[in-house]
Formats: sequence, structure tokens, C-alpha cells
Amino acid sequence: MIVMKFGGTSVESAGAIERVAGIVRSRLERHPVVVVSAMGKTTNKLLEIARTAISGKREEFLRLIHDLRAFHSREARLVVPLADRAELDRTLDDIFQELTELVKGLAVVGELTPRVTDAISSYGERLSSYIVTLAFRHFGLPAKHIDSRRVIVTDRRHTHASPHFEETYRRLNNVIAPLANDQVVVMGGFIGATEEGVTSTLGRGGSDFTAAIVGAGIGAEEIQIWTDVDGMLTADPTIFPGGHRVKTISFAEAAELAYFGAKVLHPATVVPAVEKNIPVLILNSRRPDVEGTRIVSERVPCANAVKSIACKRRITVVNIHSNSMLMAHGFLRRIFEIFERHETAVDMVSTSEVSVSLTIDNAERLDLIRAELERFSDVQLEPGQTIICLVGDNIRYTPGVAARIFGALGSVNARMISQGASLLNLSFVIDDADVRRTVAALHHEFFRDLDASVFE
Ligand code: ADP
Ligand code: ASP
Ligand code: MG
Repeated sequence: MIVMKFGGTSVESAGAIERVAGIVRSRLERHPVVVVSAMGKTTNKLLEIARTAISGKREEFLRLIHDLRAFHSREARLVVPLADRAELDRTLDDIFQELTELVKGLAVVGELTPRVTDAISSYGERLSSYIVTLAFRHFGLPAKHIDSRRVIVTDRRHTHASPHFEETYRRLNNVIAPLANDQVVVMGGFIGATEEGVTSTLGRGGSDFTAAIVGAGIGAEEIQIWTDVDGMLTADPTIFPGGHRVKTISFAEAAELAYFGAKVLHPATVVPAVEKNIPVLILNSRRPDVEGTRIVSERVPCANAVKSIACKRRITVVNIHSNSMLMAHGFLRRIFEIFERHETAVDMVSTSEVSVSLTIDNAERLDLIRAELERFSDVQLEPGQTIICLVGDNIRYTPGVAARIFGALGSVNARMISQGASLLNLSFVIDDADVRRTVAALHHEFFRDLDASVFE
């Protein structure tokens, strides 16, 4: 068995879904279980509908829902057999009726809780998985739709829930594995339900995570993440378009890259895959013949010190200064307790005797955090910053990497420099305005000569 996950762009239209059916058909003998994201930008649109509802713009949210229905209906009709059209229309009616009721209720209440956010954003994957199932049948595949909320059991941390692995694996093994023998199971990524049956989601980009959970649960021999790029590249193509494909990378390196912003893989994805030692492949659904990137458990020897450069943009640096910190112990604990209480993850930290600088990605609760910190320290915030992170297992064995980085940076001011505890990353913070030229300069420095066994 293998798991094949197709991201939003890979199922964004009738044409894209037809391509996906072809890719799945060519791998039928490996017993694929298919995980799909919402079609195109549907999740963003659903969240926009929710925001419009709480600001009381009734006409607008009704129009947005109407457009979303028209989009799904138009694309689906092109890939659903005539005989199934009536069922399709009925199901779309039901689903959109339910969504409309929910959003109208939200408009009355006027407050968007995480739980309601999940209820609304779940519709994307519920729709796409249903439509892809009908389309697969149209293209001759023995497809079977399974509602992910029946098998992915999560905690109640809505909008970023974590699975209860034991129970989820038990259900996947009981429900999905037997079906996959002679059918192509199609499930929505990203969504799950709490033990009480309340809809939850695994966080933005979470369909990759679903694929890894399903792979681990059914004991898949491989997890394939099909997306819109040729694989993991040496730099984020939206920031630096001239990157090369990385043919093989280790789990540890991939995890580091994902954590520091390489959106091509959700950071949590590698955890279940590593635990069960299942290789993960990143592949391009528009160019299925390209070999992609293979993520493996062992080290990947490479003549280049760096394998890829990741950027985490729009982060905030929090500088905390306190004279009472001098020679005092327990100070860091006090600081981190505040961040923990507000469920705000800290990515990078650097300290001196009387000050601590740290970076956060999610500034939602920053006002509250700041107020608490200011009870015992001076706080200064710098929004609009970027973490640049160079990843490569060889960084630790190669002398002079830092000197090369700072040589390449020229006049760009780098701060909070840190070599990660894992020793396979070197990161620092720059102003967001300097990102493009910095990545271009670093790419030139580290990928001028390529180890042909690792890069293409
Ligand atoms: P999907 O919808 O298939 O999950 P995503 O948009 O989540 O796709 O992830 C793929 C995108 O990740 C690419 O289009 C690319 O812009 C971005 N990306 C960022 N860093 C990298 C990188 N190092 N290599 C490849 N893609 C990257
Ligand atoms: N549809 C969800 C999102 O846009 C999950 C995913 O695509 O991975 O975040
Ligand atoms: Mg993604």
C-alpha cells in the first residue's frame, strides 16, 4: 500500500483532477490510498466567508458562498458521469445548505471561535474528497469515499489539533487497510474530529500531516506528496526562482526546512513517517515523470555544505531587557511560561546577561504577552522580520560556513545568529525587505558547484 496526497493546486480544476486520476491509475498495483486537499484556494475562501459573516456583511457572504458553490459545481460536472449528476447536485445542495445555515448563525452570534472556524474550513476537504471520488469512478477507478472525521481522532485544540495516534492508527488499520486491497480509498486531508465527534482541523497545510498519519496507520510502504513543484528545491521558488531540485534529503533535514518555512512540506509530516521509517516522496502532479525528492531516514552524504535555504517571513522579534536578570536564575523560565500560557511558539532565542531576544511567528496574542512581560522587563518589538535558515547535515563538518554566509550578506544586517541544536542548520534574522537579495546571494555562494548525486 502507498499513500498519495494531492495538494490544492493538484485538484484545483476538472483538468487537474483528470491528471490526478491518470497518476493514480498508473500506480494501481501498489494499492494507493488517496488523500486530497481542498480544491485550489477553497480554504482561504471559506475563512474569508467566516470573516465576512462576523462583520455582518450579509450580501457579501451570501455572494461568496454562491461563487464557491458555482466553482465546485462547474468543475465537478466536467468530471462526473451523467448518471451521477443528479446525485452530485443533491449532495452539493445539502452541503452548501448546511454551510449557509452555519454561516448565517455565525453572523448572528458575531464571534468566530476556533471550533466554528474548523467547522467552516472543513467544507473544502469534504467537498474535494467527494468530488474526486466521483471523478475517479468516471475515469474507471474503483474509488471509495471515506469521511476522514470517522478515522482521524484529535484533541480539542481547534484550528491546530493533534491526533490521538493510538486510536487513529487503530481505526485506520481497521477501516482503511482492508478497503485498500481492492478499492482506491479517497479521503480529505486536514480534517478530523474530536472524541465527541466535533469537527477539527490539523492546522493550515495539514493535509501533508494527514497523509503521514494515514501512511503510518496502515503501514504504507511509501508516502507520496504530490504538489506543484518538482520536489524540495534549494530555495523557495517564490523568493528565488533559480533553485535546483534536491534528489534525496534526510528526515532530519526536511523537518528543519519545513519548520523554518519551506511550505512544500508541513512540519509535522515527518514525525509519523520517521517513527515507522516510511520514505516520503515529493512529486510534481504537472510533471509526474520527474523523480522528485526522496526523504529518507539515513544521512545523505553530499559535497555541498548546504542542501537548501528556507525563509520564515513576517515574524516578530521580541527583545526583552531587564536589569533584574543580572545573576538571577529562573528568569528564562518566567519568560517562557508566559509564551507557553498563550500557546505562542518561539522559534529562535538568543540571550545575553541582561536581555533575551526571541522570535515568534504568530503575533495574535502578542499584546497580552507583552503586558505580562512588562511587569518585570522592558519590551521592544520588531515586526516585519525574516528568519533565514540554511540546512544541511554537512554544515557541522564544514569549517568556514559562517564566514561564507557573512561574506555573501554584504551590507545586509544579520542578527540573532544561531546554529541550531541539531547542528544541521544555521539561522539568523534579517529585515523582511532584504529577503530576495539575501537568498540570491546565499544561493550563489552555496550552490555554484553542485554535487550531482544530490542535486539536479
Ligand atoms: P500544496 O497545495 O500541494 O500542499 P503548497 O503550496 O502547500 O502546495 O506547497 C508547495 C509550495 O511550496 C511551492 O509551490 C513553493 O512555492 C513552496 N516552497 C517553499 N519552499 C520551497 C522549497 N524549498 N522547495 C519547493 N517548494 C517550496
Ligand atoms: N486545505 C488546507 C489548507 O489550505 C490543508 C492543505 O491544503 O494542506 O491549509
Ligand atoms: Mg501544502
